[in-house]
Amino acid sequence: MTQEQDRHQQRQQKLKQKVDEKIASAVEEKGLLLVITGNGKGKSTSGFGTVARAVGHGFKCGVAQFIKGTWDNGERNLLEKLGVAFHVMATGFTWETQNKQADTIAAQEVWQECKKMLQDPSLDVVLLDELTYMVTYDYIDLEEVLTAFKERPSHQSVIVTGRAAHRSIIELADTVSEVRNVKHAFESGIKARKGVDW
Ligand code: ATP
Ligand code: MG
Repeated sequence: MTQEQDRHQQRQQKLKQKVDEKIASAVEEKGLLLVITGNGKGKSTSGFGTVARAVGHGFKCGVAQFIKGTWDNGERNLLEKLGVAFHVMATGFTWETQNKQADTIAAQEVWQECKKMLQDPSLDVVLLDELTYMVTYDYIDLEEVLTAFKERPSHQSVIVTGRAAHRSIIELADTVSEVRNVKHAFESGIKARKGVDW
């Protein structure tokens, strides 16, 4: 073995030891609160990826979507067929509407379904897509959200997506990722694409 190979092996051994120690010390088993926030593309995609992963393991999942796009919804078309319950804001808040009262009613309707999911021990994973905006705009009470998260079944994992997640939700979360915008096709005048953007 050359000197360089030897050094490489020693470094890798040290690294392996550190990783093994960390794995051995991670013993707690509980449902997670995950937050995917930031201005870059990939937050909802990540949330739905996790739901797909859980469904693939035979887990029961539920989804709430707080911002209704004007377009078709690929993830719903797929996951509903696999038994995932969807609660989508039927009317009201989209980027186009500016009626606060109607938006609040629409948000509250979905939030009531979220509270049921967050009390349902048969659900393993719950995705609350774009929930952050509802808290920012005060359509849903922050304290109510925090309480529902804290009181959920201990094995249940919850994923929250959306830009500018409230500091208190971030503090309560176990895992928080911020997706940074490096560039986005839209800025070059490219249209949102079916199968990629929705
Ligand atoms: P995705 O659903 O693709 O994972 P996202 O959830 O991270 O995106 P949102 O803020 O929810 O992002 O916006 C949803 C839509 O806006 C998607 O069509 C996405 O491609 C687009 N989008 C996301 N980030 C940006 C950006 N930085 N600039 C322009 N459009 C964006
Ligand atoms: Mg999104």
